[in-house]
Order: sequence, then structure tokens, then C-alpha cells
Amino acid sequence: MIILQVLLVGNPLLREKSETVTDFGPDLQSALEDLKDTLTNHQEITGSGRGIAAPQLGYLKRVVRIQAPGFTSFLVNPEIVEKSDELFDVWDSCFSLKGAIFVNIKRHRRIRVDYQDETGEKHSREFVDGMSELLQHELDHLDGVLCTDYIEDNKGIAMREEWENRYRTPGIGM
Ligand SMILES: [Zn+2]
Repeated sequence: MIILQVLLVGNPLLREKSETVTDFGPDLQSALEDLKDTLTNHQEITGSGRGIAAPQLGYLKRVVRIQAPGFTSFLVNPEIVEKSDELFDVWDSCFSLKGAIFVNIKRHRRIRVDYQDETGEKHSREFVDGMSELLQHELDHLDGVLCTDYIEDNKGIAMREEWENRYRTPGIGM
């Protein structure tokens, strides 16, 4: 099991656009294992975190790992192909913020994502509410976009302790 250090906000690699995966060979499979192991390790240590994107480990390929209740998968070359007009408020954070800072932002209530699995097989799946905001967050990483980019109101920032005491909604956010 290999646990890698997650890059933190301020690292320019987090602002890069990741490349499309075309080769599903051993290099990709090894990177997928690292993603899975690192996310599992963070979940065990922090008790939170439902997803991680490859660029957070400095691997600039379009790959995301999700380990959430009801849905555990690699998403390779994921793309949002539909999104609801309806938005909803989310308190969002990120491993790359060490889960220490939360931001109150808006996400689409419902999205549809086309993606490939680790073998290259194609899938299409709809996500709503907490899963929708999670997928939007992780897919943004593939384009160098961070949740802090969506802050509209500077009052919508909270340290973890205040978020836990005041705003935490089960299933939403980290
Ligand atoms: Zn993140």
C-alpha cells in the first residue's frame, strides 16, 4: 500500500489542466492504486473525505476516485454532460485545504456524468444533492479549479470547528 502526500493549495500543479487518459496500461493502474490507497488512508485518519482527484497527487491525468456510501468507483475521463439549472448551497472543503477551511458556495443540484472505468468501459450516471456536489468538486480538480474559486461572499468562509458547530449537514460537504 502506497500512501502519497496530497498537494496543498498554493502548489501550482493544482492549477494545471489534466490530460485525457488514452492508455489503460500498467502506469494508469498503478496510479489508480495510489489514489485508492491514499483516499482510504485519509478516510481512516480523518473520518471524512469521499473523493480524490489524480492531480491532487501530482498525477496530471483525468482520473477521480470516489468512495462514498452507495457509490465506489474510479472515474476515468469523466465529463458532465447535463446539469440542472437549479443550484443549491454547499459548505465545501478539500484535502488540499487539509479540510481546515470551509467555503459556502453554490453547486448544481443534479448532474449527469459520462465516464470510463479502470478498464476503459463507458458508463453514464446521474448524481443528485451530496453526490452531485462531490462530483462537481472532484471533476473541477481536473481543470485546475478549486472550491475556493466559487466564493461570492467573503463571509461564506468558516474554519472547520465553526462549520462543525454551526453548519454541518449530514452527507453534504466533507
Ligand atoms: Zn478537493
